[in-house]
Amino acid sequence: MTEDPIWQPLQAELARWIHANRSARFWLRDDDTVEPTAALDRLLQLADDFKVPTALAVIPVHTGEPLVKRLETERWISVLAHGWSHQNHAAKDKKKQELGPDRPRPLILEQLRDGCSRLAKLHPSRFVPVLVPPWNRIDPALLPYLGDCGFEALSVFGAAKPAANSLPAINTHVDLMDWHGTKGCRDHAELVAAIVTELRQRFDGSAEPIGILTHHLVHDESAWIFLKKLFQVVAKTPGGRWLSISELMKSQKPRDR
Ligand SMILES: [Zn+2]
Repeated sequence: MTEDPIWQPLQAELARWIHANRSARFWLRDDDTVEPTAALDRLLQLADDFKVPTALAVIPVHTGEPLVKRLETERWISVLAHGWSHQNHAAKDKKKQELGPDRPRPLILEQLRDGCSRLAKLHPSRFVPVLVPPWNRIDPALLPYLGDCGFEALSVFGAAKPAANSLPAINTHVDLMDWHGTKGCRDHAELVAAIVTELRQRFDGSAEPIGILTHHLVHDESAWIFLKKLFQVVAKTPGGRWLSISELMKSQKPRDR
C-alpha cells in the first residue's frame, strides 16, 4: 500500500467495500483524441502498464488512418464519438456547445450519423457507438434521435438523469482538470475526496459506474502523476476495478456485484 496520506481516504473507502464483499466499478474516458501524439503515447503506455480499459472520445471529422495505425496493437483501447468536429456554435455569451439548439436539427443529426459511421469504418473492432458531446452538452431535443444516428449510449458529465426517449447514459463524474483556475490538474486531495464521495453514493445504492474523465492533450505533470497513482491504488485492491465501455454497455442492469 502507498503511504501517501493524500490517498489514505480512498484506500480506507475501498477497504470498506472489501469488507462488504463488494467491488466498485470504475471506467476511464479520455477526450479530444485526433491523432498520435507524445501525450497519447503516454496515456496508452499507462493504460497498458496497469491494464486499464480506456475509452478515447475521438473527434470524427478530424481523425484518420494515422490514429488507426497507432492503435493497431493496443489491447485496452475503445473508441467513442466525440461530437462531429468539436466546433463551438453557441453565441459568444453562452456556454460552448457543438450540439446545441443553434443550428438546424437535421444538419446536426446528419453530421452525428456521418461521425458514427466514419468511426465504425475506421475502427471496426474498437468503436463502441457511444456519443460523447463536446463540452458534455447536448440539446435535449436531440436525444430522441440519437438511436437513429447509430448510437446506443450517451456519455456526459455528472450523475445520470434518466429521461424518456433517451439512450442509456454512461457518464463521467470526476474530471482531473481545473479548467477555470490553473488549467492544470486539480489538487490531488480534492480529487481523492471527489472520488470518495462518488464511492459512498455507490455504496449506498447508486448503481452508476464511476467515470473518471481525462484530457491527455492538456495534462500537466501533476495530472499524469495523479492518474498513475489512481491506477496503482485501484490495482492493489479487490475493492475496485476498471471496466471497459463494452462491458458497461452489456450490463444494462448495472450492479456493483
Ligand atoms: Zn472535448
